[in-house]
Amino acid sequence: MIEYKKMINKLKESHNLLDKELKTLLTDNSFNEELFKQADLVRREIYGDVVYLRGLIEITNYCKNGCFYCGINCQNKNIQRYRLTKEEILQCCKDGYALGYRTFVLQGGEDPFFSDDLICDIVSAIRQNYKDCAITLSIGEKSKESYIAYFKAGANRFLLRHETATEAHYKKLHPDNLSLENRKQCLFDLKEIGYQVGSGFMVGSPYQTIENIIEDFRFLQDLKPDMIGIGPFIPAQNTKFENFEHGKLNLTLKIISILRLLFPYALIPSTTALGTIDPNGRELGLKAGANVVMPNLTPTKYRSLYALYDNKICTGEEASQSKNCLEQRILQAGYKVVTDRGDVKSAKNSKI
Ligand code: SAM
Repeated sequence: MIEYKKMINKLKESHNLLDKELKTLLTDNSFNEELFKQADLVRREIYGDVVYLRGLIEITNYCKNGCFYCGINCQNKNIQRYRLTKEEILQCCKDGYALGYRTFVLQGGEDPFFSDDLICDIVSAIRQNYKDCAITLSIGEKSKESYIAYFKAGANRFLLRHETATEAHYKKLHPDNLSLENRKQCLFDLKEIGYQVGSGFMVGSPYQTIENIIEDFRFLQDLKPDMIGIGPFIPAQNTKFENFEHGKLNLTLKIISILRLLFPYALIPSTTALGTIDPNGRELGLKAGANVVMPNLTPTKYRSLYALYDNKICTGEEASQSKNCLEQRILQAGYKVVTDRGDVKSAKNSKI
């Protein structure tokens, strides 16, 4: 008992642990509650009880990639494809702004229709209309020149999960034309350009081991991202992994807590995937150290088509409905939603 407390304290104080200690925390469930509690304390010390909202706009479900886990991968011929027009995207921002969102996340498959010129045109229009908002892109692997162009057009954040930091595991999840090396290079390019960068991985993805998760932590320590997105893998029909089990709630919560203690300042979302595997998943994620939620601003008629995995929640509600409902749930969990860009806080002016 004392050993575990010591280990959690060491993690809290030094923001690090040995591999074997991380392995113990990940595999033994005896001290989950203590881990969640300490992670919540650290999160409250730095970010208070505030939860930042990001308005998620799923701009296209066309994708040129064939990631084995993903429901919108290009091999899946059984889904209806869609892409939003510039006007539809701007309308989502308008609705979102009126609801109090100050960050817009444009996410999509890697859809060549969205050329660099088109992305820059859309980003500039959002930037011009909403000078006080953060614009986040999550549109996959591009050249450094493309990332620079989006940045110059006004984008300031980029989300690109590394998915797994272990080469052999990466190959089991992706076709041969995709490489972990390039994915990592993209992340370092984005940092160098000046984006606030988010990375992360799925919990319980097929063939994932505890050692893979520890390697994910080590990669993140190397990258030092501002945002870390993790969520359970959930099988998607008509994919290679459709019959695999979904990632487990407890392990996902534990990883959120460990991440909060490893990276006290990180912005960590409590993801829709977490809410999909458990009705209270997102609230539990917040209590385990997460401080961001990403409600959906995509027009309702397209929502169910952005089916990365099966049974995704919140596909039927209007943006205003889902925001109200979520705000209530966040309040009940002991936190409050603010109208704020929610930029990352830095260690510079703090005692931690
Ligand atoms: N194309 C962009 C990219 O590659 O980063 C953004 C879109 S991609 C669909 C967004 C994230 O969805 C991925 O990084 C992946 O972690 C997650 N995802 C895809 N399929 C999933 C599944 N079956 N279960 C849980 N998460 C999944």
